[in-house]
Amino acid sequence: MKIKIDNNTDLNNLFKFVSKGKWDLTKSEEEKLKTLNKKLESFLAACESDIKKHIPEITGFEWTENEIIVYPVLEKFLKAPSISYPLILKTKKDFDLILAVFLHEIIHHNLNCKDFKKMSKGKTYEKEGAEKFGIEDVVNTVLCELLERLGKHFLIQKSQKYLVETYGKNNWFGVAELRKKWNLKIHTLKEIMSDNR
Ligand SMILES: [Zn+2]
Repeated sequence: MKIKIDNNTDLNNLFKFVSKGKWDLTKSEEEKLKTLNKKLESFLAACESDIKKHIPEITGFEWTENEIIVYPVLEKFLKAPSISYPLILKTKKDFDLILAVFLHEIIHHNLNCKDFKKMSKGKTYEKEGAEKFGIEDVVNTVLCELLERLGKHFLIQKSQKYLVETYGKNNWFGVAELRKKWNLKIHTLKEIMSDNR
């Protein structure tokens, strides 16, 4: 599997085209995108092999795609938060937060496999009481473990704050509990979900 940054800013040009010039990219915005792409590329140059290795080690699920293309887009083009399919990454001032969202979305891609879907079908992760855990909790629990393995422990709290502010508190609702309940340092998500531990 290869992670590729869309350097032609295809999506930005598409947005520009459909808006008939209403959303033109200014010179400084073009520069902003270029800088972001460069930063993402140097992050990938340093960490891509670790990311590709650690995520399946944590989840127990193999990559099913040959290539994941990342489309960085300017914040003004996208009201919604970043998206997993296609992987659209919104620019922000804080590069740490871009990275956290990027890794979150990459984990979605790893979990978008038949095995995970089969295992999670009909399963809810119930806390005491009526609350349930969903896919976002699972992704963010894997994200915490990944950030630790990448030596980016400091990003956990920051990601939590950002993801809760952006997607609502349900996005992180079950993470603390799942991290306690599932020891991803010892068992893979696949083992935990199949109760094979
Ligand atoms: Zn998500």
